[in-house]
Amino acid sequence: MRDLSAGPRVLLKKLRELMAEPLEPQERLDQIVRQIASNMVAEVCSVYVLRSDGVLELYATEGLNKDAVHLAQLKMGQGLVGTIAASARPLNLSDAQAHPAFTYLPETGEEVYHSFLGVPILRTGRALGVLVVQNKASRNYRDDEIEALETTAMVLAEMVATGELKKITRPGLELDLSRPVTIEGNSFGEGVGLGYVVLHEPRIVVTNLLNDDTDHELQRLADALGSLRISIDDMLSRRDVSMEGEHRAVLEAYRMFAHDRGWVRKLEEAIRNGLTAEAAVERVQSETKARMIRMTDPYLRERMHDFDDLANRLLRQLTGYGAKLSADSFPDDAIVVARAMGAAELLDYPRQNVRGLILEDGAVTSHVVIVARAMGIPVVGQAAGVVALAENNDAIIIDGDDGKVHLRPMADLQRAYEEKVRFRARRQEQFRALRAVEPLTLDGQRISLQMNAGLMVDLPQLTESGAEGIGLFRTELQFMIASTMPRADEQEAFYRNVMKQAAGRPVTFRTLDIGGDKVVPYFRAAEEENPALGWRAIRLSLDRPGLLRTQLRSMLRASAGQELKMMLPMVTEVAELRAVRELMQKEIQRQSKLGEQLPRKLQFGAMLEVPSLLWQLDELMDEVDFVSVGSNDLFQFAMAVDRGNARVSDRFDVLGRPFLRILRDIVRAGERNQTPVTLCGEMASKPLSAMALLALGFRSVSMSPTAIGPVKAMLLALDTAKLAERLNETLDDRKALTSVRDMLKDFAADNNIPL
Ligand code: PEP
Ligand code: MG
Repeated sequence: MRDLSAGPRVLLKKLRELMAEPLEPQERLDQIVRQIASNMVAEVCSVYVLRSDGVLELYATEGLNKDAVHLAQLKMGQGLVGTIAASARPLNLSDAQAHPAFTYLPETGEEVYHSFLGVPILRTGRALGVLVVQNKASRNYRDDEIEALETTAMVLAEMVATGELKKITRPGLELDLSRPVTIEGNSFGEGVGLGYVVLHEPRIVVTNLLNDDTDHELQRLADALGSLRISIDDMLSRRDVSMEGEHRAVLEAYRMFAHDRGWVRKLEEAIRNGLTAEAAVERVQSETKARMIRMTDPYLRERMHDFDDLANRLLRQLTGYGAKLSADSFPDDAIVVARAMGAAELLDYPRQNVRGLILEDGAVTSHVVIVARAMGIPVVGQAAGVVALAENNDAIIIDGDDGKVHLRPMADLQRAYEEKVRFRARRQEQFRALRAVEPLTLDGQRISLQMNAGLMVDLPQLTESGAEGIGLFRTELQFMIASTMPRADEQEAFYRNVMKQAAGRPVTFRTLDIGGDKVVPYFRAAEEENPALGWRAIRLSLDRPGLLRTQLRSMLRASAGQELKMMLPMVTEVAELRAVRELMQKEIQRQSKLGEQLPRKLQFGAMLEVPSLLWQLDELMDEVDFVSVGSNDLFQFAMAVDRGNARVSDRFDVLGRPFLRILRDIVRAGERNQTPVTLCGEMASKPLSAMALLALGFRSVSMSPTAIGPVKAMLLALDTAKLAERLNETLDDRKALTSVRDMLKDFAADNNIPL
């Protein structure tokens, strides 16, 4: 039997020699197509390269009319060549002209050739061009010939990717690799950033393509697969809590794939055709990627992603490669691009250099997104295909406001965004100038502007924003980004550190608000049909008193000798507060029995987030030192709209009559009971809604740190009494037709209030 792999091996060896020779790019390409044609006994071999304008241009040919080189062209999707590039799949035809997509290009003289085999030139799943062989006789190319041509195409992919062909690209044109691309994702964190791509999982560039010794490479592959399987089994056998649920499911899928005969056979075949083990993995991976990019079924896409991850692991095993960019090659303006990543991994990057984060997957509630937002980094999520399209150091713009990514942007777009960034910077400069200005309204009301926080990375913002203190410290964030439950001593050290950084400014710690959409990996409860209404926050804390007492104790210890301000999330009934107070009392007694120093003063508060409290306002205010309105949840529950569901969450207006009347009732109850009332939901972060809050009588609000400047600029120009009168009139008018929002906007415009 003929050794089918001898042909491709000889060809690859020849190509390797050609690649090493000091030839001009056109000459090298010409010789490559000549070699392929002769090796495959084809009368024609041609290379088409994809340009940035979506046109496939003939770059070299053996057998077709040479005058057509750099002139013959087909659009993406047009003709056989365009079809191959668009689908990223080979076409094997015994009678090319009978194919419905066939387009006749008279300049090439190809009408005499009947059989046609074309394969995409792929790199990381993208088609960079097409490689074709043709014969006069009508025949079908064998599978091993297709395989051989695909392997050969890798060499060409390398030539395109290294930029060698740029020298022979006609002036004014560019290759597709530098094509500008806009990707529509979702806005997960506001802001705009310009910079250069840093791939979180560095692409492993296989430079050693062609093997000298097939058996040796097969052995290397077998060894690497062996270690890969062992490492997966290892991870699976570790009975650690974080290994439950999804992690386990993913690993089990990996294990299945690592044993997948079809996959392994493909890898081995590529090696037999002359590739090194790593080049074989890259080849097969590239095909998988090409299919993945075009796949619309989310389940199948996810499975393909698993294969892709697995191939990456295998590549790392084989090349020992995969270290992150070293600190000195890390760009000053880095935009980190990842499929997904853990929160801790983001914190490993030099913070001052990271201008944005782009995730192919991810959700607004994922930890890395929470951390990125806390760091004030713009985030775009669900940016489909970005990892395959971007190369390290490509210019890129992230528009976190619109949820868009512009990869390799054109000059005019770049200029427009630069202007936008300059404009923002100027505004920030103006706000910074207000830092030391006392927050007094035109009618002399002093407003306490506080900020929300939850991680250590938030704290520098206290000084930068000029906030008076932290009005909401979300303690669950520390739990959410940890891989195991933070121990008592860790919690204590953390709270102590927060207070130290706050340097005397008040900090209101909120006890754990986990459950619902706030998932803690090591604390899994049963699936719930309505998690937002389920076992969460104070409900969970009261059912797990050990957890709550540990947290209360850590807070007491961390604030020894100082004031401790704390509040409870999602209170539904006043009885819940009493229960927590009892636990707190026990902890205080325990501390004093141990002779430990207690806080100088304890302020005990409740968040008002569940509408049931609206009919218990007086009892509630008897029980607590202060009340903080969580307008995000209060709005969600009062209006019955899921705050995380974009389809309904914007349907009703926080500045509509029902919600503003609720807030007015709360302020009035506070005045009646002499209980301080503040508000710490998103509403306080928007100057227009903050203006309404001040008119309703709020004198303290807590918001995201970046909002402090704009809100302060607003209040310095506001006469609260004047607006209160207008607002109350509008709220009491039973026949009113105009929206409150419009009234507020008009008032701001008439009174020169910056919003
Ligand atoms: C709120 O619900 O308004 C609030 C501040 O709490 P969180 O956003 O953490 O649920
Ligand atoms: Mg809440």
